[in-house]
Amino acid sequence: MKRVLIANRAEIATRVIRTCHKMGLETISIYTEDDKNLPFAKQSTYSVSLGSGTVAETYINKEKILEIAKKYKADAVHPGYGFLSENSEFGELLENNNITFIGPKSKNILLMGDKLESKNFVKSLKLPVVPGYEGDNQDAKHLEQEALKIGFPLLIKASSGGGGKGMKIVHSEKDFLEQLNRAKSEAIKFFGNDRVILEKFIINPRHIEVQVLGDGKGNGVHLFERECSIQRRYQKVVEETPSLALDDKLRTSICDMAVDLVKGLNYRGAGTVELILDEDKNYYFLEMNTRLQVEHGISEMITGVDLVEQQILIAQNEKLALKQEDIQSNGHALECRIYAEDPSNNFLPQSGEIKYLGKTIDPTVRVDTGYETGNKVGINYDPMIAKILTHDHSRESNLNKMKNALNELPFLGVKNNRDFLINILDFKDFCNGNYHTHSLEAWMDQLSQSESEDLEMAYAAFHFIGSQNISEERIEKFIDPWSEGSGEWLG
Ligand code: ADP
Repeated sequence: MKRVLIANRAEIATRVIRTCHKMGLETISIYTEDDKNLPFAKQSTYSVSLGSGTVAETYINKEKILEIAKKYKADAVHPGYGFLSENSEFGELLENNNITFIGPKSKNILLMGDKLESKNFVKSLKLPVVPGYEGDNQDAKHLEQEALKIGFPLLIKASSGGGGKGMKIVHSEKDFLEQLNRAKSEAIKFFGNDRVILEKFIINPRHIEVQVLGDGKGNGVHLFERECSIQRRYQKVVEETPSLALDDKLRTSICDMAVDLVKGLNYRGAGTVELILDEDKNYYFLEMNTRLQVEHGISEMITGVDLVEQQILIAQNEKLALKQEDIQSNGHALECRIYAEDPSNNFLPQSGEIKYLGKTIDPTVRVDTGYETGNKVGINYDPMIAKILTHDHSRESNLNKMKNALNELPFLGVKNNRDFLINILDFKDFCNGNYHTHSLEAWMDQLSQSESEDLEMAYAAFHFIGSQNISEERIEKFIDPWSEGSGEWLG
């Protein structure tokens, strides 16, 4: 493998380019005209415009991407996350053209992408799944009978669903048929397939997921868990590892289960096994994501393993060099996602120009972003601007480190959830680790506050001055307003 095309944009494209270049690989970025000034479009060895158009016409246009990969002689394609990352046809199309897809085998993507099939497969391995119905008989009357057996509340989930779409909660028998119709019509609209499964609704669960790697040669390892229970409308906001909900015994049991699944599938690539944990600490398989996950960085921080590098090595047909006993979890890692949204206005997505984006003072803070000063944030793509990742020896010290990082990050121009994130980190139940997937909604009234623009401006100005090459003479004349006692910004 010499040249990798990155079939993605912004933050994850930049992330993948970094590892490719570290490994001595050339890269090809593909970008739309809207994105031509983003860093990822300039960081690659070669950059190719996809022109303008919808996502369907550009970033998920399989034929167009294949054509570019062939023309520019890519040996492999990394799909990042989202877009074509879990599209089994894309993987096949590439492989049929002798281009390596840096991801799992198509049949694993297909199997794990379907909630009905994946649950049945996991059950066949004798691994725990949420009690429910995942049968072929999709007749409404039959489903209603099955629902009565499971009991209420329950969840109806579109078998091909994702991102919470086609998922409905049913509180009582009388609502069942109406919610079934809703779930089915949503499923047809988004996924073109109205098969559903039924699941017992677990009250106040925690979302725990396990990072795994498999080489497709029978070897599999885990890189411990991530806890992602701090969510808003199925969107993860803060993730951490280790999870405070697990003791060593439970951790071993959950992680071993994930490795059993990797081996059962003879899985090739990086993946994430998602589980839910109930209040009595029973855990159940939820789904497997057959790609790199947004929050993969915190697993990298506690283990020191570069997951993109592992993906590439596995795609090059190498045997997994990592042994389970070599993978240790050190300290605590945390990720906060900065979104372009207004917490004081129902999290309305925001757009605009980034007037200034600088670096944090602490060089150990990892800022994974797809943007730089002067870039425009639009509303056509994901509203995530940056992921802030910190790592420290203990959770307590790491929470402080993250708060400092969020406070220090010089960012100006687009309204965002920075203060909201800081408020979460200060929230007593978060600090105690006393939370589940509905906690954030419950804390909402006490958390939502708008970003103080004055303060934002002061951070940015301060950092801007710090980043300039100011002559000694100018420094002598420069009066630091913060050292003058007034604490007031003067210039
Ligand atoms: P999707 O593929 O649409 O994201 P998932 O099955 O992964 O759907 O579930 C999304 C989220 O919904 C989970 O992270 C969890 O918070 C919640 N959830 C899923 N299944 C259950 C369940 N049986 N009981 C309670 N909450 C659930």
